[in-house]
Amino acid sequence: MISFIDLQAQQQRIRPQLDAAISRVLDHGQYIMGPEIFELEQKLSQYAGVKHTISCSNGTDALALVLMALGVKEKDAIFVPSFTFAATAEVVAWLGATPVFVDVLPDTYNMDPESLQEAIDLAKSLNLHPKGVIPVDLFGQVADYLKIEPIAQKEGLWILSDAAQSFGATYAGKKAGSWGHMATTSFFPAKPLGCYGEGGAIFTNDTALMEAICSLRIHGQGVHKYDNVRVGMNGRLETIQAAILLEKLKIFDEELTLRQKVADYYTHALKDTVVTPHVLENSRSSWAQYTIQLPSTLDREKVAEHLRDSGIPTAIYYHKGLHQQPAYAHYPSASMSTTEVLSNTVLSLPMHPYLTDAVQDNIIRGLLHAFEIQTFRLVG
Ligand SMILES: *Cc1c(COP(=O)(O)O)cnc(C)c1O
Repeated sequence: MISFIDLQAQQQRIRPQLDAAISRVLDHGQYIMGPEIFELEQKLSQYAGVKHTISCSNGTDALALVLMALGVKEKDAIFVPSFTFAATAEVVAWLGATPVFVDVLPDTYNMDPESLQEAIDLAKSLNLHPKGVIPVDLFGQVADYLKIEPIAQKEGLWILSDAAQSFGATYAGKKAGSWGHMATTSFFPAKPLGCYGEGGAIFTNDTALMEAICSLRIHGQGVHKYDNVRVGMNGRLETIQAAILLEKLKIFDEELTLRQKVADYYTHALKDTVVTPHVLENSRSSWAQYTIQLPSTLDREKVAEHLRDSGIPTAIYYHKGLHQQPAYAHYPSASMSTTEVLSNTVLSLPMHPYLTDAVQDNIIRGLLHAFEIQTFRLVG
């Protein structure tokens, strides 16, 4: 079976460095907030081009810590795409605020600025207080902040960029993580930059906000640890994970180049048969996923099943918009025509930096064969 995401190939490549990094942590014994945490935060700030990075327990807690620091509360409307991973809306609901769902664009799958305006008007008509917007950089491509910023500015909203899938990407010369007033990412193992457990980070140029988040990350601590000035959480990254990330960061740019090569290879082979990913001019994806759209006349389940039978895994991100999920269906939502089309037609193919041409040829052949069978069935 081909791996959907092969973490083993990367591990084998840098295993001695990883072993040494983990051993150093075992030697110094500072498992919580050890020196690697601060070194990683500094390196990530440098990489993303921001003043401050706060590492934390995972990408979901990263979003939550920001919303807590901003004082998000009941009656606040926070605008989130429906076509995303649940965490983006979940953290809004945690704080008793209202996620208001926004549709995405049919080509990039990222937040549709026109739909954002529709959602803001809807929230106002419901007597909610529009406070902020959380665009998601879906599948690795940075959302179009250049179009979202003017709307947010006009409406007095802050922008929190959910860069969980896009760390390493760039748009208009700026890195993912540096867009918006603050941004978050995830180091879940399968993300472009992943650790070997849970991890996340928050990026911002706002020093006061950084200080509040650092306090919230350790139970709302004040000047010292047993001084509680806020209701916070236990949101720390573990030192061992920071040590692992420091080693992975060293080969990250090279891996991004390899991911680009894999994406180009797929696109070249598939562009005449399916809708291949559209990356904006001026934009470079981190290729967290390579997601195609199948013609709606084809049975997606059958295509996936045929591939599975040939040892080729695929995944569906996402088979429903959040506005259609039982836990979120009662929240307000702009019209969702694009999300509903995409959730029925998208299919993500195996993607990681170590996919070889031979394996990709196999995947491409499998996909084209599944198409032939289906098309024959439709005609016959
Ligand atoms: C993965 C992901 C998260 C959450 O990250 P975790 O580290 O798994 O908590 C949030 N938002 C998006 C868009 C994601 O893909």
